[in-house]
Amino acid sequence: MPYDGEYATYLPLHRISESQRVKNLLARSKILEKAHVAHTPKPIDAPPQVLNLPKFILAIDGSYAEVDVKNGYPGAKVGYCTTASVLLDLDLIAELDTKRPVDPVEFRKTEQAASVDAALPGSNVVTRRQNSARASFREELYDLFTEIVVDEGDRTNLLSTYEALLALKPTTNPQSCPYSESHGCEAKFVVKPGCTTCPTCSRPVYSTDALRIHERFRDTGTNGEAFGLVMQVVERLLVIHFLRCFERRNVLQRLISLAFFIDGPMAVFGPPAWLSSAISLELKRLNKKVRTATDQDLLILGIEKTGAFVQHFEEIDQTETPGQQLFTSRQYMLLTDGYIKDRILHSDSHKRYGEDTYFGRKFFYKAQSGARIVTSIPFLSEEQDTIDSDDISLYPQFAAICTLLDRVVSSRHANSVSPLIAANAQAAIPLQLGSRVLTELAKALLGTAENGK
Ligand SMILES: [Zn+2]
Repeated sequence: MPYDGEYATYLPLHRISESQRVKNLLARSKILEKAHVAHTPKPIDAPPQVLNLPKFILAIDGSYAEVDVKNGYPGAKVGYCTTASVLLDLDLIAELDTKRPVDPVEFRKTEQAASVDAALPGSNVVTRRQNSARASFREELYDLFTEIVVDEGDRTNLLSTYEALLALKPTTNPQSCPYSESHGCEAKFVVKPGCTTCPTCSRPVYSTDALRIHERFRDTGTNGEAFGLVMQVVERLLVIHFLRCFERRNVLQRLISLAFFIDGPMAVFGPPAWLSSAISLELKRLNKKVRTATDQDLLILGIEKTGAFVQHFEEIDQTETPGQQLFTSRQYMLLTDGYIKDRILHSDSHKRYGEDTYFGRKFFYKAQSGARIVTSIPFLSEEQDTIDSDDISLYPQFAAICTLLDRVVSSRHANSVSPLIAANAQAAIPLQLGSRVLTELAKALLGTAENGK
């Protein structure tokens, strides 16, 4: 219910948009004129559905909540970071299809309660060994990466996967000492694996400092941005981590029965963006092995729930004719660099869209249910690493991806991994991020192999 004065905040906003200054600014701004655009959206019929789908989807969806805590200091906060990793059984989904959907909000609540994976210090929370909230945050982040183990067999932690990617980071841009702001240390250096020290101020430096998330950490106020960056990194690292664990167990060839779904695009934004090219190199290396063993590509996709692309898809789907939409069910559009710069994020740069942040590309898809989905797929080989071509034959798994989306995305809750998990709750095996995850996964995949699929 609106409280007294709630509308008062809305009225001045309206007045601002009507003000002469705003009007003048808009008059000086570029307007997208439909008559002059070089690229018009052209939906294309998706390839026919395929029968040979993976049996499982591993959906990874991280989220965080920042909560106030009482420790005697004002405004003390802690970030609770959760990663819901769920194994969806596609055969079960098909069976349960008629009974859908479960209330996603209710499901999400139980999911969150069950799988709090980490609590990270926020503002004014200082751990015993540290003397600032930021230093505490840095140490706890390093510890978190150390603690995440998914395979009880070899107990390799997430940190080792991260450090394998760190080794791929170019050393041409040394970074500032994490104590530059707090202690005025002016050193610049390349962050090494493990826990080392700054060559100038001798204070501890963690390998995870190379993510530079602490640069967005604030000692007072809210740290939504820093926690959001942590989750973004953890979700993407987990995919690589699972793949590397499968590689060590020599079961990469079984991965054709598993598809990975992550929340958000195939990209890493903000200070940890360098991870993007490291992830891309690693995915290409792993995919080469999978191809050699199975003659197929890995099946990984990201689903975007908000942002310019989601909005643009909604806009272009509306035609002049009421009730008639541009895309019919099972039509797609692969987004090219030219289209994106012309229609979505205006730019005349020669640099490829997302060059420094993306390790994959986006496409629009209208699923069989009519749901609009903004999806992205990773570049798994050098030929696939382009956004100029709209040739889907570059992506051998494209037909399987469209079919998978038809199978799992409901019309009520498109554009997000979590409702996907929720809508299919009854077919979901929640994977607590613990040391037995990989064992459970491997068991499921082995079971599939024995059934001859
Ligand atoms: Zn230093």
